[in-house]
Amino acid sequence: MAHEHHHQDHECCEHEHHHEHHHEDGSLKSQILKIAITVVLLIAAVIIEKKCNLATWQMLLIYLIPYLFIGFDTLKEAAEGLAHGEAFNEHFLMSIATIGALCIGFLPSAETQFPEAVFVMLFFQVGELFEGYAEGKSRESIAHLMDIRPDVAHVEREGETIDVNPEEVGVGETIIVKPGEKVPLDGVVIEGSTALNTVALTGESVPREISEGDEIISGCVNLSGLIKVRTTKNFGESTASKIIDLVENATENKSKSETFISKFARIYTPIVVFAAIALALLPPLFSGDFTGTFATWLYRALMFLVVSCPCALVISVPLTFFGGIGGASRKGILVKGANYMDVLAKVGTVVFDKTGTLTHGQFAVTAVHPEQCDEHHLLHLAAHVEHFSTHPIGAALRDAFPDEATDGCKVSEVEEIAGQGIRARVEDKIVCVGNTKMMDTVGAKWRDCDHFGTIIHVAIDGEYAGHIVINDRVKDDSAEAIKALKSLGVERTVMLTGDRKEVGEDVAKKLQLSEYHAELLPADKVQYLEKMLNQKTEGQYLAFVGDGINDAPVLARADVGIAMGGLGSDAAIEAADVVLMDDKPSKIALAIRIARRTLRIAKQNVWFAIGVKVLVLVLATLGVATMWMAVFADVGVTVLAVFNAMRALKA
Ligand code: ADP
Ligand code: MG
Repeated sequence: MAHEHHHQDHECCEHEHHHEHHHEDGSLKSQILKIAITVVLLIAAVIIEKKCNLATWQMLLIYLIPYLFIGFDTLKEAAEGLAHGEAFNEHFLMSIATIGALCIGFLPSAETQFPEAVFVMLFFQVGELFEGYAEGKSRESIAHLMDIRPDVAHVEREGETIDVNPEEVGVGETIIVKPGEKVPLDGVVIEGSTALNTVALTGESVPREISEGDEIISGCVNLSGLIKVRTTKNFGESTASKIIDLVENATENKSKSETFISKFARIYTPIVVFAAIALALLPPLFSGDFTGTFATWLYRALMFLVVSCPCALVISVPLTFFGGIGGASRKGILVKGANYMDVLAKVGTVVFDKTGTLTHGQFAVTAVHPEQCDEHHLLHLAAHVEHFSTHPIGAALRDAFPDEATDGCKVSEVEEIAGQGIRARVEDKIVCVGNTKMMDTVGAKWRDCDHFGTIIHVAIDGEYAGHIVINDRVKDDSAEAIKALKSLGVERTVMLTGDRKEVGEDVAKKLQLSEYHAELLPADKVQYLEKMLNQKTEGQYLAFVGDGINDAPVLARADVGIAMGGLGSDAAIEAADVVLMDDKPSKIALAIRIARRTLRIAKQNVWFAIGVKVLVLVLATLGVATMWMAVFADVGVTVLAVFNAMRALKA
C-alpha cells in the first residue's frame, strides 16, 4: 500500500526537519473514524438487504454508499496511476477486484458479492492505517535519537546574553549551557565544570565529568553545572547535526533484500494479473458451457487480484531494516544504510587497527634515552616536531613537554610521513621523529632499546639523537570484544599495526587474536587487506575497524568499514560505513547481532507473506477459498508482518 503522509503544519517552524516524518495523530484519527462509519453503513446495508426483498440493482445502490465512502480515494489513486501508465499499483488491483465483485451479481447464475466488495476496500484501509501507525512509531524511536537536536543557544554578544537559533551562532562565540539543557554546538569549555549525559549519542548511561579546557560536543545534555563554552564549529559542522543527517539518509542506501523485493513485486504483480485473466476466461471457454461457468471462474480470478497485492512485502521489509537501524542507533551504533546490515550479518573476518581501536591511543612516556643531548632537549625537539600532529603519539609527546606551546621556538617545513613519523625544521635544524624505518631513510644509526613499548627515535640533521619510549594501554573492553566475536562464529580476528613487532605480539596475545601483522606502512595495510579479501570464504564478508586517523584507505577498501566515533571525530564519521559512538570494540559484536536479527525478521516476513499468498491462490483456483480469505491473505499478512517488523526496533 502506498504510504502517504498528510501533514498539517501545526508544529512550530523550527522543527521543519522533523515533521515531514511525523505521522499526524489527526490523520490517524480521521482514518479510524472513516473506517468506523463504513462499518456502520455496511451493517445497515446488510440489514436492509435481509429485511427487504430488493432487486439486484437496488442492492447495488445501497452497498455503493459505504463502498464509495471508504473506497473513493483508492479509486481516484487507481485512475491517476492509470493516467500515468502505472497499471499495476495496489490501488488499481483493489479497484478492479472490487468493481468486479460489485458487477458479478449481474451475471446469470451468479451470487451477488456486494458486502465482499465493500469489505475488501474496508480492509485495505485498515491495512493502510496500520502501516501509517507503524511507520510513525519507527520514526518516533529514531526521533529519540533526534532528541540530540538542540533548539536554542544562549550566546553572549556585547555583554548581553541572547537566545538565538543554534544555526545563527558562529565559530569562536561564547555560549552558555544551563543545567538540563542540550549542548547546541561543539566547542571547548572555558568556564565551569559539570557532568554530561551522552546517552543519546553513545547509549552509555554513566555521565561524563568535564571541566575547563575539555572539549564538548553537541547533543549531550548538561546535567549539573552552568558552563560557558567557546564554539569551535558552526551548527552544520557540529556533531549533532552530522549525526542527524546521517540517520535521516540511512534509509536511502537500500538493502539487497529491499531491492530484491521491489524487483520481485514488479514482476510478480503483472504475472498474477495475467494469471487472473487466464483463470477467468480459459476454464469457461474449455468447459463448453461459458455462460454457466464464467461467474464462478470470474469470482476466483477476482480473489487472485486481491491476493496479488504485494503490500506485505513492499512495506514490511524496508520497515524492518528501518527498525534495525533505529534499534542500533539507540545503542550508540550508527549504521549508514540498510545495505550495511546485509554485510554486517555475514561478517566472517574482523580486521582491527591497533592504536586507538584496541588500545586507548593515549600514550604515556615511560623512558627517555638521549644519545648526544640531554633528556630535556630531546623531549623539547620531539614535542615541537609534533606540534601540528593529530596522531595519538603526537599528543603524547606534546604532553610530555608542557612548555612546548609557550617557549616561542620556531617550527617550519613540517612533513608527516604516515606509518613512519614526522620531519620538521626546528629553529635551524632538521629534526626527524619516528620509527626505525624513518631513521633508515635519513641514514641515522639508531640503537635498539630493551624497554617494552613503542620506541620513538629522534634524529637531528641526520645524526641519531636518542629515543623516547612510550606505552599505551589495551582497552578493558577489547578482550571482551574478541571473545564475543568468536562466540558469534567470527573465527578470524586480525590486528594490523604500524607499531613494533614486540608491541603487536603483546597485544595480540593479551586479546587472543587469531593473527597479527606489525611494522606495516599504510600501503602494506591495504595490501594485507586485499589478501584477506581474496582468502575469505564465499558469502562471508570482511570488516575493518579503525579509529579513523589515517585509516581511510583501509576503511574504504573493506566490505564494511567500522570507525570509532571518538565522541565526535569528523574523519571517522565521514570515512566509515558504521560508526561506534562510544569507541567500544565490543559494540561490533552487538552490531552483528542486531544485523542478523534484522535480517532474520525480514526473511520471516517474506516467507510468511509469500507462503500465505500462494496457499490462498491455490485454494482460490480449486474454488475452496472465499473473498474473505483473500482479504485476510492480503491485509492480515500485511498487519502481522508490520508488527513483526517492529520487533527489529527493540535491540
Ligand atoms: P597504528 O597502525 O598502530 O595505528 P600508525 O600506522 O599510525 O600506527 O603508525 C605506525 C608507526 O609509525 C608508529 O608506531 C610510530 O612508530 C610511527 N609514527 C606514526 N606517526 C607518528 C608520529 N606522529 N610521530 C612519531 N611516530 C609516528
Ligand atoms: Mg592508527
